[in-house]
Amino acid sequence: MHIFEFIRPKDSAAAIAAAAQSNTAQQGADVRFMGGGTTLIDLMKLNVETPARVLDINRLPLDKIELMPDGGLKIGATVRNSDLAYHAKVQQDYSVLSQAILQGASAQIRNMATVGGNLLQRTRCVYFRDTAMPCNKREPGTGCPAITGHNRTLAILGASEHCLATNPSDMCVALAALEVTIHIQGTKGSRAVAFGDFHLLPGNTPHRETVLEAGDLITHVTLPPPVTGSKQVYLKLRDRASYEFALSSAAVVLAVASGKITRARIALGGVGTKPWRSPEAEAALTGKPANDASFRQAAEAALRNARPQSENKFKIELAKRCLTHALRTAAAS
Ligand SMILES: Cc1cc2nc3c(=O)[nH]c(=O)nc-3n(C[C@H](O)[C@H](O)[C@H](O)COP(=O)(O)OP(=O)(O)OC[C@H]3O[C@@H](n4cnc5c(N)ncnc54)[C@H](O)[C@@H]3O)c2cc1C
Repeated sequence: MHIFEFIRPKDSAAAIAAAAQSNTAQQGADVRFMGGGTTLIDLMKLNVETPARVLDINRLPLDKIELMPDGGLKIGATVRNSDLAYHAKVQQDYSVLSQAILQGASAQIRNMATVGGNLLQRTRCVYFRDTAMPCNKREPGTGCPAITGHNRTLAILGASEHCLATNPSDMCVALAALEVTIHIQGTKGSRAVAFGDFHLLPGNTPHRETVLEAGDLITHVTLPPPVTGSKQVYLKLRDRASYEFALSSAAVVLAVASGKITRARIALGGVGTKPWRSPEAEAALTGKPANDASFRQAAEAALRNARPQSENKFKIELAKRCLTHALRTAAAS
C-alpha cells in the first residue's frame, strides 16, 4: 500500500506553502491538491498517481460563483460541477457550459467534482490507467502501446508519435468556446492564463498536460461578459446515452443577424489531445449565411488536419456530423 500524508490547509496561502514543503528536487512534484477526488482517488487506487502529500482544498474559500463588475462571472475552483450547471446566470447566459456539464459523468459524480479538478481530469486511455503497460504520459520514455493497440476512442487531432490520449472533459470544451481565463496561485505569486494556452499538446513531453508548475493552485476561472442573444449548443455523441465519455462533441456559440453569422466560437471534444478550439471553423462561418452549406464547410475546415489511427478513422466523419448538427440546432434555436 502506498503511504501518503493527508493535509487540510486553512487557506490558499497555507495550501501553497504546504505544497512547497515537499522533499523532491522539483518542489511540489509529489503533492496533489484534492477537489472532489473523483479522478485523483481513482488513480491512486490504481497506483497511477502516488503522491506523498494530498492537500484537501475543500475548506478553502473557493466555492463561490460571483457576478463581476464587467458582467462576467467569477467561478471558484471548488465550485461543484452541479452547482455551476444549475446556476441561474450560467443557465441563462452561458447555457453551453450548463449543457456540457450535465452531459458528463453521473449526478453523483457531478455533485462531488469541482471546476479545478475537471480542468485537470486525466485521460481515459486504457494504457495510461494500467500500470502493467508502458505509457509515455505516466512514465516518460516507456513508449505508447496505443499506436499499435487499442486506439478507437483516442485522438485524431493534436496527437504525436509519443501519445494519442484524448482529453476527456466535456466542461472544458464549453470553456474553450466561451474563452474563459484560468487564475493560478503559486509560490511565485498569482497569474492568469487564457484557456487556449492552458492545456499543452503532447509533443515529446506527454506527461506535461498543462502550463501549471508543481505546487500551483487553480483558485478560480473567469467568464467574459456574455454575448447578448448568442445561440449556444453542446452536442455530445457517445457509445451509450449516459454515463459515457464523448467519442465526439461540439460546443457552439453563435451570433446571427439577418440570417448571417456575425460571430462564431467553436470547440470540439472527444477528438483532440486537448479541448479543441477550432479557429478554422470559426473563420469559415463568420460572415456566411446560417445554412447547412456553411455548417458543413465549417466542419470540413475543423477536421482538415485530422490524422486517424488504425481504429478511429470513423471519428472524422462523426466529428463533422456532430459539429454540423450542433450548428444547425443552434441556428434554429
Ligand atoms: C465513472 C466516471 C465517469 C465520468 N464521466 C465523465 C464524462 O462523461 N465527462 C466528463 O467530462 N468527465 C467525466 N468524468 C470525470 C469527472 O468529470 C472528473 O473526475 C471530475 O471533473 C474531476 O473533478 P474532481 O474535483 O473530482 O477532481 P480531483 O480528482 O479532486 O482532482 C483531479 C486533478 O486535479 C488536481 N486539482 C484539483 N483541484 C485543483 C486545483 N484547484 N488546483 C490545482 N490542482 C487541482 C488534482 O490534484 C488532480 O490531479 C467521469 C468520472 C468518473 C469517475
